[in-house]
Amino acid sequence: MEDLARDEKHPNLSNDGRHTTEDVVSAFTRKVANRTYWGTFFIVLPLAVVQAYADHWLMAAWLSAFCVYSLMLALFSRHQGLRNYHILAFVTMLALATAYSTYLNGVNGFLWGFPVMASIVFLLKRKLAIYCALAFFILISLAVLNAMPASIAWRGILSLAAMFVFTVTLLVLLERMQRSFTKLATTDTLTGLYNRKRLKTELEQVVALFQRNKAPVSVIICDIDWFKPLNDQHGHLQGDRLLTQAAATIKASVRQTDKVFRVGGEEFLVLLADTDLQGAYSAAEKVRQKFARQLFKLKGTEVSMTLSAGVAQLTQDDHWTDWLERADKRLYLAKENGRNRVVID
Ligand code: GH3
Ligand code: MG
Ligand code: MG
Repeated sequence: MEDLARDEKHPNLSNDGRHTTEDVVSAFTRKVANRTYWGTFFIVLPLAVVQAYADHWLMAAWLSAFCVYSLMLALFSRHQGLRNYHILAFVTMLALATAYSTYLNGVNGFLWGFPVMASIVFLLKRKLAIYCALAFFILISLAVLNAMPASIAWRGILSLAAMFVFTVTLLVLLERMQRSFTKLATTDTLTGLYNRKRLKTELEQVVALFQRNKAPVSVIICDIDWFKPLNDQHGHLQGDRLLTQAAATIKASVRQTDKVFRVGGEEFLVLLADTDLQGAYSAAEKVRQKFARQLFKLKGTEVSMTLSAGVAQLTQDDHWTDWLERADKRLYLAKENGRNRVVID
């Protein structure tokens, strides 16, 4: 537990909680979006000149304005994410330029529909992306039907529809992968409980919430007594089996709304929302008693185990490290005073 607090005080020592999958994906998305704005600027600039040479003045003016806007977004989005309406404006201008160009230049304009479709889906959030891509599809289909012979038009529309389906499928897949990676990164693989990375995020949220609504919140830190001798006697694999059962026992002894984390080898933490020190003490006692009564299965035999626990309630002006340190000290006292007990003071 102390290492979690130390990591917080010296963030360079640890990557815990700093590089979540969301961070990685959103940093990557931002980078690619930035390149997209630069790319758009450099591609649209000569196109604006070409349109001016062809005496398509409205198109040339539209593309020039779009060019300036892309350059602005490229410069602004270098170090920060853009607001949704900026991206939406970019996508709208891009879609209108492509549809108008298709209407004006036929297949030469329509060819841009494919990368434009991909960038709409990539730049916007899922729901908005699907709506915008659909709107773009309808718009460009109308332009295609107007500007191109039927034999090319239906093929063009069909292939753009296929492109739409593929890009949206990829987007959904990416989101699912992101969610499952996040789950993997925040779950302890042995016990299925939340891990320390998740704990840190959770604690920060709990403290922020407490500062707003002042509802009591407490924590129990428990540690299995004399686990090392058991491990030494029965082997590490059997020790793992015991830990899995211990985790299940602790989880089953607390409320559904309480969150249980594995924070060390044989050390667990329970976060109890809407619970003051007395309430948390009763909860910890319940866990301790249930745990002591339980028989844990091993290959061909059964063993009983006990645990010691320290309890602390979050107080005003506490950083979460102070709060956990208090619970940790009490756990230490419980061990000092003979184990198989809960200490609140
Ligand atoms: P105490 O009552 O003071 O807590 O005694 P203890 O033996 O439980 O304490 P100690 O912290 O000295 O030992 C913890 C042991 O837990 C060390 C190691 O053998 C075991 N352990 C830690 N992580 C794992 C794990 O992932 N799997 C297994 N099988 N054992 C582990
Ligand atoms: Mg122990
Ligand atoms: Mg320990």
